[in-house]
Amino acid sequence: MKIAVYSNLKEASNRVSASLINKISKSNSLEIDGQNPEIVISVGGDGTLLSAFHHYQDISDSIRMIGIHTGHLGFYTDWRDYEVQELIDSLEDDNGQSVTYPLLDIKVNYADGTPGDTALALNESTLRQINGSLVADVFIKGQLFESFRGDGLCISTPSGSTAYNKSVGGAIINPALNAIQMAEISSINNRVFRTLGSPLIISPDEWIKIVPNTNARTILSCDHQVVSTKTISSVEYRISSRRIAFAQYRHRQFWHRVTNSFIGEVDSGD
Ligand code: NAD
Repeated sequence: MKIAVYSNLKEASNRVSASLINKISKSNSLEIDGQNPEIVISVGGDGTLLSAFHHYQDISDSIRMIGIHTGHLGFYTDWRDYEVQELIDSLEDDNGQSVTYPLLDIKVNYADGTPGDTALALNESTLRQINGSLVADVFIKGQLFESFRGDGLCISTPSGSTAYNKSVGGAIINPALNAIQMAEISSINNRVFRTLGSPLIISPDEWIKIVPNTNARTILSCDHQVVSTKTISSVEYRISSRRIAFAQYRHRQFWHRVTNSFIGEVDSGD
């Protein structure tokens, strides 16, 4: 089985990567292949896994990801740095077991008529205005839903719902659900301006289109990257037909990961 090791180049990650590469090169059934891997092991944190996903995005349909964390426990990185041998044993016994999560399709059109861009997000996309408030019409499935005024909008996947979306008051969605969520970033709500004021979740047959006020200079992001700062005429968000796959050698319940990351030890009170 061909394996790529993608590291964030920090000292602790370099040590883990070196140990992984050493063990893989000694294995009879595993080999290192950074070009056409079947498995991509990211070594670092969630940010490293996001970078690894985007690095291998074009072949993401044929790979499975694994995250080893060398810092704080991550959402996508559920192997610990001292579990390298256990991971190698699991890779050698691999029988294709995986779990897949939804991704977000982003399609942007520019006001100057230059060709639009597409992007694929694992966590989320945000649309914010460079100066002042973002003023934009929001359409759901082609119907005007609301006129938004505020800092911006955050459209996230279920697995990204624990990231930026959570900070702006969005709900946490189990990635077993095929859905995307829109959350407001500091909307202005008074007698003049009115938005829903709460996050909303759309189903697979729906899509969200945001049309900013003419000439607004916006920042459109996709995960940790800026997609564009050009003046956009519209941006459309849909649940992608593509999904990210993770090799799943042991079962980690999603809600257990949420408790672990955000709440810590829970005292049952007994
Ligand atoms: P970063 O270094 O700023 O780290 C952001 C934090 O988000 C890290 O602690 C990381 O572990 C965590 N994170 C990333 N994805 C997560 C997920 N799916 N669930 C729970 N936590 C997650 O940036 P980075 O490491 O390059 O990650 C980029 C991500 O940071 C963006 O996709 C966005 O979701 C998040 N972010 C959050 C805020 C915020 O909460 N106010 C602001 C900017 C970016």
